[in-house]
Amino acid sequence: METKLISLPVTVNRDTRFRDLVVEALGEAIFSCYQCCKCSAGCPVAFVMDLLPHQVIRSVLLLQREKALSSRTIWICASCETCTTRCPNEIDIAKVMDVLRQIQVESGTEAKEPKVPIFHRTFLNTIKKFGRIHELSLLTNFLRQSGGISDTIKSGEWKNDLRLGIKMFLRGKLKLLPPSKKGVEELRKLFDQAKEHKKS
Ligand code: SF4
Ligand code: SF4
Repeated sequence: METKLISLPVTVNRDTRFRDLVVEALGEAIFSCYQCCKCSAGCPVAFVMDLLPHQVIRSVLLLQREKALSSRTIWICASCETCTTRCPNEIDIAKVMDVLRQIQVESGTEAKEPKVPIFHRTFLNTIKKFGRIHELSLLTNFLRQSGGISDTIKSGEWKNDLRLGIKMFLRGKLKLLPPSKKGVEELRKLFDQAKEHKKS
């Protein structure tokens, strides 16, 4: 009997640049993932993720750039490293999340959880300005930049925030005046060095 060869429509995405960036930061260990799910089973915030950690690793390996970058997971990840310590193949999953966040920010597209990168940026800017954290500046700048002021007022959430703020103030945890800028110049140099390092 004559055997007919059937040609199947195979679409192979050969653009490996996305995966290469992750491999560059992590090394080849990621290729040893055998999808045992130990990372996902131990993740404390998996219940609110849209892609579980092992699925994120899988998307990187399968070059599913959009799937990984448009997930809420990369922004919800708390960088606690539980997954990393549980992985039998020593894959630094927490670092994968970090690299994906960086690629997402550099892509210029909007993050699935837009308030998280705004918070990160505001946090770093506060450190850069004062040399350490100043909660009141962080909170007011974050609310202003994330458009959260009107949300807080509309939802009535401001009352809870105010109550919490008073409690923190009375316990000495909320300083009204910004800290002295001791050591701020050295810190700014570190920021500049990091910027230069990124360019090179
Ligand atoms: S624990 Fe490690 S090997 Fe297992 S699925 Fe997660 S990344 Fe892959
Ligand atoms: S580092 Fe992120 S992904 Fe890993 S266990 Fe912690 S929260 Fe989950």
